[in-house]
Amino acid sequence: MTSNNFYEYIDRASIDENLICEVCHNPFLDPVVIQCGSTYCGPCIEQNIKSGSHCPSQSCNQLLSADHLTPNPTPRHIISMLDNLRVRCRLCGETNVSRRNFDEHLQGSCPERRIDCSAKDVGCPWSGPKNEHNEHVKMCIFEKLRPVVDILYKVIENQRLDIEKLQKQTEQQTTEIGQLNTQLDQQKAQLQGHEIKIGDIQSQNQSQNNEIASIREQITTLEGKINKVRSAIHWLSQSQEKEHSDIHTTLPI
Ligand SMILES: [Zn+2]
Ligand SMILES: [Zn+2]
Ligand SMILES: [Zn+2]
Ligand SMILES: [Zn+2]
Repeated sequence: MTSNNFYEYIDRASIDENLICEVCHNPFLDPVVIQCGSTYCGPCIEQNIKSGSHCPSQSCNQLLSADHLTPNPTPRHIISMLDNLRVRCRLCGETNVSRRNFDEHLQGSCPERRIDCSAKDVGCPWSGPKNEHNEHVKMCIFEKLRPVVDILYKVIENQRLDIEKLQKQTEQQTTEIGQLNTQLDQQKAQLQGHEIKIGDIQSQNQSQNNEIASIREQITTLEGKINKVRSAIHWLSQSQEKEHSDIHTTLPI
């Protein structure tokens, strides 16, 4: 809420026409001097930019481009004349306040300014004139409950801290689990490598076993052949001996 809603100008008719905004017909607020030299309230010209209008100056009437709105410094004497305009507080009726000091009046000494209860933070819905606030606070149940509420807030705060700590621990553990998973993956890959090597060795063993088996077969065949040769030799030697003895026995005496 802007403070100009809370005052009115004293002797409005006597205010210099050069201080009046062509858009809102009031003395300038936060004046800006635009490219064509016209002066407007900052908020008034901003309103016109949003609606895509032309410059409100009759003699200019250009489309309000960004260039046209480039503000020039407002002459200091204009600012000081505006600051010195006299206003009356609409709330408390205090009059002859300079416009420059009105915010100070409203925030500080104005007894009628509406304020919220000081216990609004703990739930008091009261709002009223500043000069009734002290009276209200004396009876305000929320203000009376404040010590209890403060204790509860502390409990909540401690729980919040505990939760934060647990969250941090959980995060750390998640990171550790991630690292362990990576290690596990690496070990799985190593294991796979070993399994492949074992497979190779097993197939080598198998082919060696096959070779051994065929060598054994060859040996068996050779043994068979050797036995045949042996029995042939045996038979030969026996038949020779027989021939010998036959010769002796047939010799005439
Ligand atoms: Zn204006
Ligand atoms: Zn213009
Ligand atoms: Zn006032
Ligand atoms: Zn209250």
